Amino acid sequence: MTRTELLAGQLTALGLEVEPQAQERLLQFLDELLRWNRRINLTAITDPEEGIEKHLVDSLTLLPLLQERERLLDLGSGGGFPGIPCLLARPGLQVTTVDAVQKKIHFQRHVARLLGTRGLQPLHCRAEDLPRVLGEDGRFDLVVSRAFTSLGGFLALGLPCLAQGGRLVAMKGAEGRQELDHAQPEIASLGLVCSELRELELPLSRARRTLLVFERA
Ligand code: SAM
Repeated sequence: MTRTELLAGQLTALGLEVEPQAQERLLQFLDELLRWNRRINLTAITDPEEGIEKHLVDSLTLLPLLQERERLLDLGSGGGFPGIPCLLARPGLQVTTVDAVQKKIHFQRHVARLLGTRGLQPLHCRAEDLPRVLGEDGRFDLVVSRAFTSLGGFLALGLPCLAQGGRLVAMKGAEGRQELDHAQPEIASLGLVCSELRELELPLSRARRTLLVFERA
């Protein structure tokens, strides 16, 4: 099976619609990530087939939660996940990615230039400093993170950047429900509620994932 078929098959299995041209760009992005990864450490995943599932498809499980033209903030984005795959699949989005490590942001800027991607703003800063860095313009419809920090930590850092009516989405693994239970006191003290919990399985590895969606109470 080719890599193109592998990606297309997994997206179909999850009911995710992505234009063939966007799928090609997603694979180009992954190629560039793995190429750079030989020189600078961006990801622990080095196998291209695993990268398709664990980086591209996993990031794209966010798509059903996204509206066209939304402003999305990805905290602790690393090599650009999940923000860049979402932007490649839905080019109308405006995506700001944030990471504390300069070389990761450098890579993301390189990829945006290489693929001619509009709508991406990679920021080198700590999530704690974002309200000061972005000021009043720094409000987003959707604030997301994957493999970033504890659930309560992410919500506390993301909340000041949330627009009125916006949502926070934590991408978690199989233990998402337990993390939610554990963080309930922090969630309540931030004035948030979990409005949706989506559980799914990645098609190839059957790895379990949990998407936790939060809104202001
Ligand atoms: N989200 C990416 C993914 O799923 O592949 C990267 C996950 S990686 C485990 C966590 C990332 O968060 C790292 O790139 C790290 O530099 C970044 N990070 C950790 N603490 C941070 C902070 N306070 N502000 C911004 N980025 C941070």
